[in-house]
Amino acid sequence: MSNAVTRTTFDQVMVPNYAPADFIPVKGLGSRVWDQQGTEYIDFAGGIAVNSLGHCHPELVAALTEQAGKLWHLSNVFTNEPALQLATRLTNLTFAERVFFCNSGAEANEAAFKLARKYAADNFGAHKNEIISCKNSFHGRTLFTVSVGGQPKYTEGFAPVPAGITHVEYNNIDALKAAISDRTCAVVIEPVQGEGGVLPADKAYLEAARELCSQHNALLVFDEVQTGVGRSGSLFAYMEYGVTPDILSSAKSLGGGFPIGAMLTTTAIAKSFGVGSHGTTYGGNPLACAVADKVIEIVSRPEVLAGIRAKHDRFVAGLNAINAKYNVFKTVRGMGLLIGGVLTDEFAGRAKDFLKAAEKQRLMVLVAGMSVVRLAPSLVIEDKDIDEGLSRLDAAIAELVSAR
Ligand SMILES: *Cc1c(COP(=O)(O)O)cnc(C)c1O
Repeated sequence: MSNAVTRTTFDQVMVPNYAPADFIPVKGLGSRVWDQQGTEYIDFAGGIAVNSLGHCHPELVAALTEQAGKLWHLSNVFTNEPALQLATRLTNLTFAERVFFCNSGAEANEAAFKLARKYAADNFGAHKNEIISCKNSFHGRTLFTVSVGGQPKYTEGFAPVPAGITHVEYNNIDALKAAISDRTCAVVIEPVQGEGGVLPADKAYLEAARELCSQHNALLVFDEVQTGVGRSGSLFAYMEYGVTPDILSSAKSLGGGFPIGAMLTTTAIAKSFGVGSHGTTYGGNPLACAVADKVIEIVSRPEVLAGIRAKHDRFVAGLNAINAKYNVFKTVRGMGLLIGGVLTDEFAGRAKDFLKAAEKQRLMVLVAGMSVVRLAPSLVIEDKDIDEGLSRLDAAIAELVSAR
C-alpha cells in the first residue's frame, strides 16, 4: 500500500541529514496543514519562507495545472514562453535588465558568485577574484556557497574548500572598509540575515557597502533568497532600504513551493555569461516559471504588499503581548513577514524547545540558530489564522515556562 509509509520509514530509507518532525503532513490549504492522522496545524513556518501564498493557493494551482497540460520541459536548447514572461515581469519590476533561471537558492548564488568572478576577470584581470562575505551568513549548501557562507560548521569535513573568500563582521562598516581592496570582485550581503538569526542590516551599512563597491569596482551582491518576493514588505528588500545591488539572487518565495531560483543583474554584467559559460538543464523550466510568474503577479499587487506590512504589525503586537506575560524574548525583530524572537539569556540555546512545544500545540514555527524563534508564514495568511496561531504559541510558551 502506497500510504503505508510512516515516520519510521524515514529512518530506514533516507540519508540521515535531516531530523523531521514526528508527524507527516499530507494536505495543506492556506495556512492550515493536516497530518496523516488528520490533526490540523497552523503554519507560521511557510516551508521556510517558501509558501509565499500559503498552501494550494487556487491561482497557483490553476497556473500549474494549466501549464501541466501544455508543456513541461524543453531544456535550454529551446526557450519557452513562461520563462520569457517571468523574466519580463522581473525586469519590469526591479533594477535588473537580465535574468538567469535555476532551481534553488544555492544555484542562484552559485551563478552570482561565478558571474562576479568572471566579470572581474573579463574587465579587470584574474587577480581580482576575492569575495567578501559576512560572518554568520548563509548562502546555500553547494561547496562554493557554503564556503562563501559565514558559518564554519557547514564546511567542516568538506575540505579543501574554494579559496579567495574573506568573512567580515555583519553591520560593521569599518570591518568592510578594512577588507575591501582592488582585488575584491564582490561583496555579498543578505539584507536581513535569515538563518543567522533574522538580523536586519543597518541602512547605513548597506549604503556604505554600495559606495565601497563602486569605489573598488566590486559588485554588490544581495542574497535575497529569503528576503525577496514580498517577504520584507516590498517586492525585494533592497527597495525597502533604497540601496541597489549589481546582482540579486532569489528563490524560496519565488516559486511559492515549486522549485525555482533566479539571478538578476544588469545587461553590462550579464555580458560576462556568454554562450556556454554557465548553465543548468532544468533552469527556466516552463512549469516552475508559470507558477513563479503568477506568484510575482499576485505579490506585487499593492494591496498584497500593504497586507504584509499590516500582518507584520499584528504579529509583532501579538508576540510582544506574549512576551509581556512570560518574558522569554530579549527582542522581536525582522522585516515584513520574516520575524524573529530573540530568546532571553535564560532560554538562550533552547529555540528548538520552543519549536517542539509549538508543535505540541499544533503550530509550525521555525528556528534561526540556537536562540531565535523564527516565523516566515504565508504573505497572505488570514488574520484569524495569525490570532489562532499566536494563542497556540502562547499556550506552548506557557507550558515551557511552567518548568521555570
Ligand atoms: C535558503 C537560503 C539559501 C539556499 O537556498 P536553497 O534553495 O536551500 O539552495 C541561500 N541564501 C539564503 C539567504 C537562504 O535563506
